[in-house]
Amino acid sequence: MPVSESLFDRALKLIPGGVNSPVRAFRSVGGTPFYVKSAQGATLTTADDRELIDFVCTWGPAIHGHNHPRIKAAIAAALERGTSFGTPNPFEVEMAELITRLVPSIQKVRMTSSGTEATMSAIRLARGFTKRDKIVKFAGCYHGHSDSLLIKAGSGALTHGYPDSAGIPASFARETVVLPFNNAAALAAAFAANPGQIAAVILEPHIGNAGFILAEPGYLAAVRRLCTENGAVLIFDEVMTGFRLAIGGVQQLEAIVPDLTCLGKIIGGGLPVGAFGGRAEIMDLLAPLGPVYQAGTLSGNPLALAAGIASLRLLEELNPYARLDALGRQVRDAVLAAARAKGIPVQVPQLGSMFSVFFTAVPVRDCDSALTSDAKLFANYFYGCLKRGVYLPPSAYEAYFISTAHEGPAIDRACEVMTEAIQAI
Ligand SMILES: *Cc1c(COP(=O)(O)O)cnc(C)c1O
Repeated sequence: MPVSESLFDRALKLIPGGVNSPVRAFRSVGGTPFYVKSAQGATLTTADDRELIDFVCTWGPAIHGHNHPRIKAAIAAALERGTSFGTPNPFEVEMAELITRLVPSIQKVRMTSSGTEATMSAIRLARGFTKRDKIVKFAGCYHGHSDSLLIKAGSGALTHGYPDSAGIPASFARETVVLPFNNAAALAAAFAANPGQIAAVILEPHIGNAGFILAEPGYLAAVRRLCTENGAVLIFDEVMTGFRLAIGGVQQLEAIVPDLTCLGKIIGGGLPVGAFGGRAEIMDLLAPLGPVYQAGTLSGNPLALAAGIASLRLLEELNPYARLDALGRQVRDAVLAAARAKGIPVQVPQLGSMFSVFFTAVPVRDCDSALTSDAKLFANYFYGCLKRGVYLPPSAYEAYFISTAHEGPAIDRACEVMTEAIQAI
């Protein structure tokens, strides 16, 4: 029996669904997941010794490819000095200086151990600041799995067909207003219907968790204006897009200043991390300065921050964004050409090192249009690529990620494979 199959059999007995995060279970494409025993650059090596070109990049963090020597060395050096101290450590100051310099809307920042904690804490802080209860989120945006945010959420929740999780009290859900993305009129109407009650508007400035969906020109500026006019805190959840689409995130590209920003993924260099920050006036309401409580035993963990600092410094040194965008365009063009030749309608939203393939004739601009994507065709495409050595996210509603390590033979081979997979669909 293949090693992956026997590991999954053992896992199924003890771990719900065999996995520690639902999308990994391959339910949306059918079949069972493979196990990875090592990863280097753009390549995963499975427990059965297959080599795969990886477009999941650990769901975003691995922008330098897997196991980058500089990040590995930074973790090793930190490890020599101990794994956790329960006191402040020097990396925390260095990371705060780095983040506030690279993302200027963040005047003060606090580290967490996951993106979920960052968004959950930002929401609590916005409620504490405005003394209001309601929040606005957008269908298809995923902000981690805390109660008020797991409503019409993207990512695994969307993949598995239950964007509204069981276990969330209706009284909590009532405090979350869910709106369609890319629709400023809907947001204006929500403010009008809930006067003086909306504490915060949270969004992924370009959605990465319902597949990749770009904000249309002018939309984010309209959201910013409406939040300002109505005294609501604007929270950009850049856990995925931060440091990926530009060194200063989507807010830099679009010249928008959010009140709070959530970060994660890349800032941990592959270790568990999150962060939230923004206007000092709001951040200073956090304990111990203010009444909004937030804490974490491993927050600011020295290993995670050493990895994250190395990752951010590499981005600053290399400024790889133009190169990554060229790789993204190369893949997008290959998929579009193959689909055109085959006569299959397809949408391939792409920006920099993020893209998605939606099998639909409908332009994808929100969650509903993303859901018109043909899941059966996607599963064929997914397995067509996997069989030929390219690993895509195992769901039609996830973004694909490219790393600097993909440059060269890996990207060329991936384009061939995606073309063949579409021809054979
Ligand atoms: C991944 C993600 C999160 C959650 O981060 P975790 O570290 O998985 O808790 C939140 N928001 C966005 C936009 C994400 O992509």
